Amino acid sequence: MEKRVRVRFAPSPTGGLHMGGVRTALFNYLFAKRHNGDFILRIEDTDQTRFVEGAEEYIVNALKWCGIEPNEGVGFGDGEHKPYRQSERKTSGVYKKYADKLIDSGHAYYAFDTSEELDEMRKRLEAAKVVAPQYNAVTRQNMRNSLTLPEDEVTQLLDSGKPYVVRLKVPRNEEIRFQDIIRGWVVVNSSQVDDKVLLKSDGMPTYHLAHIVDDIEMKISHAVRGEEWLPSAPAHILIYRYLGLENEMPKLAHLPLILNPDGNGKISKRESRFPVFPLSWKDPRENAPFIGYREAGYYPEAFVNVLALLGWNPGNNEEVFSIEDLSKLFDFERVNKSGAKFDPEKAKWFNQQYLRKKTDKELAIAFNPFLIEKGIQVSPSFLEEYCRLVKEKAQFVHEFWQYGSFIFEEPTAYDDKVIQKKWNPDVKQLFIKLKNKLEILENWTSHELHELFASAQNELGKLDMQLLRVLITGVAGGPQLFDVMALLGKEKTIKRLNTAFDKL
Ligand code: GLU
Repeated sequence: MEKRVRVRFAPSPTGGLHMGGVRTALFNYLFAKRHNGDFILRIEDTDQTRFVEGAEEYIVNALKWCGIEPNEGVGFGDGEHKPYRQSERKTSGVYKKYADKLIDSGHAYYAFDTSEELDEMRKRLEAAKVVAPQYNAVTRQNMRNSLTLPEDEVTQLLDSGKPYVVRLKVPRNEEIRFQDIIRGWVVVNSSQVDDKVLLKSDGMPTYHLAHIVDDIEMKISHAVRGEEWLPSAPAHILIYRYLGLENEMPKLAHLPLILNPDGNGKISKRESRFPVFPLSWKDPRENAPFIGYREAGYYPEAFVNVLALLGWNPGNNEEVFSIEDLSKLFDFERVNKSGAKFDPEKAKWFNQQYLRKKTDKELAIAFNPFLIEKGIQVSPSFLEEYCRLVKEKAQFVHEFWQYGSFIFEEPTAYDDKVIQKKWNPDVKQLFIKLKNKLEILENWTSHELHELFASAQNELGKLDMQLLRVLITGVAGGPQLFDVMALLGKEKTIKRLNTAFDKL
């Protein structure tokens, strides 16, 4: 019988969530939704040296902001398999139990080497030109562990409370084969795998042991994670095998790397950085404060859409998908092995698609704070109309200012090129006549202004519309001019024209 789909996102609370991490969470979430399964958030906090205060809260809030909501786990409610923090799970002794099982069956052993001794080993191997020095089937023979030391010495070391680690006894020169949903069959020789540390003397497991124990205990059906974990997978296979739990093993899916737009190299931290966290928190490893996708003005829907297409494709040319659409379509069959290029320009385009779906009222509410910051206050209806005019080109709400600031601020200069080319005393006379007509226009609407301009053209001869725009706004481009004039109102438009006539 097929196992119920239960997947997990299992970040370590070592900093802010990066783009790759959020994508892993998203693919897990979508897969669970698609198969009516469970999606769990597990916090892998066994490495206390890398623990960052506030990071867990950050992760939870980041997922909430994206709408990627686990149905079990830290910050999202308990299920049958609580707790969801490994530091808390440790107290039940569950990790030690599994480690003991491996030791008892001869597949793991105690190692007492100090860090100096490990350093020495590394130097010795480097001097002997060993490419990747590691603790393995060959080198362990010269080290201090329960395989080399006499039994009574081992017992005595353990009893005396000397620090130790438990290591996996990886066999020499054995073929390890496993299937990855995305990559197909993977074959690795065990000589490339080191004797991974599984547990430390304080009973704290490492990632390698802890995640396997938890995946088993939590009945995880698929382990979906980033490609960076692929090299450790052979060791994990051995652990399952030695525990006699190969049948319980989740199916593996290693997601492709996220690459720069040109495809060479992993995406930079700066670009992948994704803060959606209260400002009171700052990653201590970051010197400069960073801004994230939320702060840059991305909509969560757009961000999720961008992430979904990093490695996955729908099999057709469609690009804009809501998270609901995605959860009906997503499967690993359409996830690529090769790295996924992240294009920041395309990401902006996605934001624009979502911006265009917003109503003018929603946009006005979102843009208002930017105006308030500048000390500008206008009526809601004015602001809505303003948003309608400027939204066409904008990819982000904060850009609304740059596309129409001339509505709030009188021009201080006039586009030089246009003036040089088109302005002269004769033209000025024509525009004064036009202004006179405008002054007596009663119904100051975009439509009426259009009509008036057309009839003035007939009567007075060629009136350059771009020039009129420059006189009123100072700049040569922008939203539909009659709409701009209508929004400005009669009084301001006339005043601006008079100022231009004085100055030019
Ligand atoms: N704790 C690991 C991480 O931080 C999880 C890897 C996994 O999903 O197995 O990425």
